Amino acid sequence: MICVTIARETNDELRRSWESAAESGATLVEIRLDYLAEPVDWTLLLRDKPTPVLVTVRRTIDGGRWSGREQERRSLIVEACHNGADWVDIEMDIAQELPRTGISRRVISFHDMLSTPADLDAITDACRAGDADLIKMAVMAHSLNDALRLLDAVARSHSISPTMGLSMGDWGQFTRVANARFGQSWTYAAFDATASPAPGMITFADLKTIYGYNRISSSTKLFAVIGDPVSHSKSPLIHNLAFQHHQLDMVYVFLRISPADLDGFIRRMTDWGFAGLSVTIPHKETVIPLLDQVDPLVSLTGSCNTIIACKNEGLRGYNTDLGAALDSLKEAVGGGAQALIGKQVLLLGAGGVARSLAFGLNQAGAKVVITNRTHQRALELAREVGVEVADWADRNRVAGESAIIVNATSVGMHPKIDESPLDSSSIHAHQVVFDTIYTPEWTRLLLDAKLAGAVTLSGIGMFIRQACAQSQMFTDGLEPPLGSMAKALRLTLKSA
Ligand code: NAP
Repeated sequence: MICVTIARETNDELRRSWESAAESGATLVEIRLDYLAEPVDWTLLLRDKPTPVLVTVRRTIDGGRWSGREQERRSLIVEACHNGADWVDIEMDIAQELPRTGISRRVISFHDMLSTPADLDAITDACRAGDADLIKMAVMAHSLNDALRLLDAVARSHSISPTMGLSMGDWGQFTRVANARFGQSWTYAAFDATASPAPGMITFADLKTIYGYNRISSSTKLFAVIGDPVSHSKSPLIHNLAFQHHQLDMVYVFLRISPADLDGFIRRMTDWGFAGLSVTIPHKETVIPLLDQVDPLVSLTGSCNTIIACKNEGLRGYNTDLGAALDSLKEAVGGGAQALIGKQVLLLGAGGVARSLAFGLNQAGAKVVITNRTHQRALELAREVGVEVADWADRNRVAGESAIIVNATSVGMHPKIDESPLDSSSIHAHQVVFDTIYTPEWTRLLLDAKLAGAVTLSGIGMFIRQACAQSQMFTDGLEPPLGSMAKALRLTLKSA
């Protein structure tokens, strides 16, 4: 169940927002009385309730806004019980001083806005001792391990009595979706993105539509994109769309993992219910030694962007980036499988994507020239692949002589959208210019190329194709809804 949290300054606004949440399908609403800038009007708020309600008056130390006297706050909680609140939230440390009264059930809560404490079991025990119908822990995570530790503690406590746990911040944001997989009673959602009362809280609309939260159960298979940072990723949007299209019992979240936590997580990913992962910066290379088997493309490129947990065979790594980039490029150049043979390609960059492309373009018969801001990296990559290298300072001249230009640097990516790795004068008609960047779709480089009359190709096609190839692996070969995935991606990029 999703509990929609609504925080407003007046009783009127609070009631109206609650009514519209109910119209949008909310079945439980938390009203945050600590945000009210006027006295509580119980009659207006609780008469003919639009949905069952949880009443909360949060203190500032717990992330709330209550600025009045503590005695007054406690009186409000008691009044809520006598005015028909279905649930009240009472903090662990005062729970024993506020005995059960009226018909309201009690959420006994613990908040730590700064860290995930070491003694989580002691905290759930103390909440239980406060006469809890539901124990809630909301704590700040500073690593994926913090979030996993919380989930472990919640599972231990939940086996005794109903317990839920939410990790705040983007390290723990996945717990707001995945907690349903672990049998927890509900998750909290913000009614609107602009008034989110807790760090990392997802909106009601996104939880319902992107994640299909109400369909998640203990049998749901988990998938994720792992990276650091990763909260900007559009992968949950498009992968969940594919899962929902086929009505599969699967959900896809994002997981921020630091390099230090990667090993520990990968080894336990199936214990946590993860059946597959997309891998992004900075883990594409470092994850490879942690896998049981890798596809030949991973061995060739040294880069893995997909992990599948195979029954009885452990974890297998794949690279869907390269096929996606080459297919997009061949389509733009024309001429099918032979499209790239003998064509000079200037490859800008020597990072993860450039590395895969260098091997793939070379194998497809192109005459590759690598250039990179850090020349040493270009030299090493060119030597490894067996292709040419050009000085970064000479890139505009080489670009002018090349049939195909591929930008695999991050120059021109959001937010520095006015930058381009090349002078506009080095691009001409009859060239194909491929920018792997997809935020924005039309980079400065591609706009210049279009103006010069060149054929242009953005990173969107590559992104969608690599995601479709992953989706087929995640879903045992089902055809992903490519058109709607591309449309959803473009829409969300436009509104960002
Ligand atoms: P990476 O490993 O971090 O490599 C970044 C590359 O950009 C390096 O060659 C780096 O040069 C260069 N660079 C960064 N800032 C620069 C600057 N100010 N001037 C010149 N060069 C600069 O990243 P990656 O994973 O390879 O990603 C590269 C690009 O591919 C990104 O733009 C990303 O958006 C795109 N991408 C697209 C898709 C897709 O599906 N379309 C998927 C993944 C990535 P140094 O070696 O000198 O640092």
